[in-house]
Amino acid sequence: MLTRLDEHFGPESLTVLATYQCTAACKECCFECGPHLRERLPREVILDVIRQAAQFKTLRYVVFSGGECFLLHQDLIDAVALASSFGLSVRCVTNGYWAVNEQAALARLKPLVEAGLTELNISTGDDHQEYVPFQRVITGAMTAARLGIKTLIVVEGSKNSKFKAEDARNHPDFLTFKESDPAGDNLSIISNVWIPFHEDRQLVHEKSLIRNPDENFKVQGCDNILENFVLTPSHQMASCCGLTMEHIPEMKLGDVRKHPIKELYFNQFEDFLKIWIYVDGPERIIRFAQKHNQSIRVDNTVHPCQACATLYLRPEIRKTLKDNYQEVIDDVMRRFYLKLALRKYTEKFFRESPRIKHGA
Ligand code: SF4
Ligand code: SF4
Repeated sequence: MLTRLDEHFGPESLTVLATYQCTAACKECCFECGPHLRERLPREVILDVIRQAAQFKTLRYVVFSGGECFLLHQDLIDAVALASSFGLSVRCVTNGYWAVNEQAALARLKPLVEAGLTELNISTGDDHQEYVPFQRVITGAMTAARLGIKTLIVVEGSKNSKFKAEDARNHPDFLTFKESDPAGDNLSIISNVWIPFHEDRQLVHEKSLIRNPDENFKVQGCDNILENFVLTPSHQMASCCGLTMEHIPEMKLGDVRKHPIKELYFNQFEDFLKIWIYVDGPERIIRFAQKHNQSIRVDNTVHPCQACATLYLRPEIRKTLKDNYQEVIDDVMRRFYLKLALRKYTEKFFRESPRIKHGA
């Protein structure tokens, strides 16, 4: 299978999590990051993995996240410059702690933009604001937008959050910036579902966000798995967005010191469950398990990765899938190749336009 796929398929994005150290210690952080964590990838490893990843013709983005990627200082600038030299779009995801004022924000952002940074995402919300005030988020975001890059403030939360995307949009600095600054169009605010990772935390979500595959045809396959891959601070390559990988051992693909990343990437196509998730998504697979084992009860989920963690971590679901997957394997594999064919068609379109540089 590897050889055939090799010609047609590859990841669209690489996410580099060079450290789980962070200036914040948000309660629901998916990697349980914090100031006390010291593990950090050496500069040469980060650069080597970017060089290897750029050999995939399908690669469009490199994303630096963490942990707090701004703690990498000069290594981050060098890594952004390297990714950009391959014509890749480059995004940093940060909590904005460094934007204590406009001057400080400019001092951190200008070298990154000059190195080729094309997008900045700043995360905020109730948990983040225990460590980083929103004023820093808006200052950092406006500075990035003025430097000409696409900038997004992502408000993580739930129905019972105190701070919501609306509060960010009503902030006087944001309103003035959008109304009167020529860079206003570069800055947007979105809200994102904050997934609970602790059972004692009660996050209430809007009913409309509940992902019921029986009622919502949009609850489909996961495009992150097999299309994104992640480098972790412990030299592991991992599948998908990385959100749940520290909770799901099967998402880890292997050590980049021992294997070329191309080998690690293609090995995952030997895992039928990953292909099934790519085609149908975790919610529909859980429904399949429930049809075969009516004792399986699952709480409502509001995020596909929450459902994925349920699927992988509940032994009775795994067993039911193992006992019954033969029933769907031919159909899933047929739809997998169909999805690949469609992807190849759109990929051809992108491949025929040159890799995009500097914010286009
Ligand atoms: S700012 Fe982000 S990486 Fe840091 S602790 Fe909070 S959620 Fe985790
Ligand atoms: S749904 Fe599963 S496979 Fe997809 S991104 Fe989330 S954790 Fe990864």
